[in-house]
Amino acid sequence: MEKKITVLPGDGIGPEVIASAVEVLQVVGKRFNHTFHLAYGAIGGAAIDQYNNPLPDETISLCEQSDAVLLGAVGGPKWDQNTPELRPEKGLLRIRKHFDLFANLRPVMAIPSLLGASPLKKEVAENVDLMIVRELTGGVYFGEPRMRTDDGAIDTTVYSRKEVERIVENAFHLARLRKGRLCSVDKANVLETSRLWREVVEEMKKRFPDVQVEHHLVDSVAMKLITNPSHFDVVVTENMFGDILSDEASVITGSLGVLPSASIRGDNFGLYEPVHGSAPEIAGQGVANPAATILSVAMLLKYSFGLKEEAAEIERAVNAVFEDGYFTADLARDGDRVLTTSEWTNKVINEI
Ligand code: ATP
Ligand code: MG
Repeated sequence: MEKKITVLPGDGIGPEVIASAVEVLQVVGKRFNHTFHLAYGAIGGAAIDQYNNPLPDETISLCEQSDAVLLGAVGGPKWDQNTPELRPEKGLLRIRKHFDLFANLRPVMAIPSLLGASPLKKEVAENVDLMIVRELTGGVYFGEPRMRTDDGAIDTTVYSRKEVERIVENAFHLARLRKGRLCSVDKANVLETSRLWREVVEEMKKRFPDVQVEHHLVDSVAMKLITNPSHFDVVVTENMFGDILSDEASVITGSLGVLPSASIRGDNFGLYEPVHGSAPEIAGQGVANPAATILSVAMLLKYSFGLKEEAAEIERAVNAVFEDGYFTADLARDGDRVLTTSEWTNKVINEI
């Protein structure tokens, strides 16, 4: 297979974790006989410094010519005082919008050797293997009207049937690829948009008879994620509920620093990035944990290129290195030997 990937290292530890992930990508390519052509572009603070624009046209056109995008992280204190249009984070919002990446996928999987850092009991967290699918481009964050009045404020939740259908359909496909269970989350006892959401899920499930569907209210899911997280496979929900639940889910297994994410749309194109940010205070020291970005490469191979075996090999290698007791500074506990970013990456590469 021959594919083009645009690589956007970004700011802070972004370039360091990206360098590791790209090495792993190329090793997997070699081992499975694929050629990945990489094009590097600027985004975030790095792009502001170079182009006075957090998402320059040059970067957009690179991405348009690619099959997928791999991103590090954006932001840092250097640009905190900038005007809103010249903030690094603006680059990220604009790239999602430009490519209409309406589905945000955040898998959360228990890694046995990291469960000590979970706030939950080991027996509650140990079998967790779920994915939050969050609608990313609609809902209350974008609905009009939004305004302040003299004695109050207004936000509006808007969803069209089409917007709900496309995210729900995606979630059904993902459930099919995973354990075949879909939990749809809404607040249908109160919200009109939630009743539409539930209706769409009910209609769509006729097309996916092999997927087992449940409806839950968001408040109940918030509790169940803590009391019985291994109950869930794919959880699909609207923008704001997904924002909140995906952060809640990310701490369940204690491995926040190793979580990957994908932002996708109906075709094979997608943007892949670690859940964590640019961690400016440790940037440039060679100590960042590259696992989340390496696992984002696994997601890219699986969801954009359909390379399941290659993705599984990366996941296996990462898990094996943790199981062997090798950690970067953020995960190491007393007595563990601490590896640098490149030492840890080499362990993964040797494993592959
Ligand atoms: P953002 O606003 O971009 O989400 P943030 O400041 O909320 O950024 P992070 O940049 O993810 O969050 O950092 C949170 C903490 O986790 C920091 O102490 C940071 O050093 C640490 N951290 C984040 N990612 C990593 C990593 N890959 N390796 C080591 N430490 C990390
Ligand atoms: Mg943050």
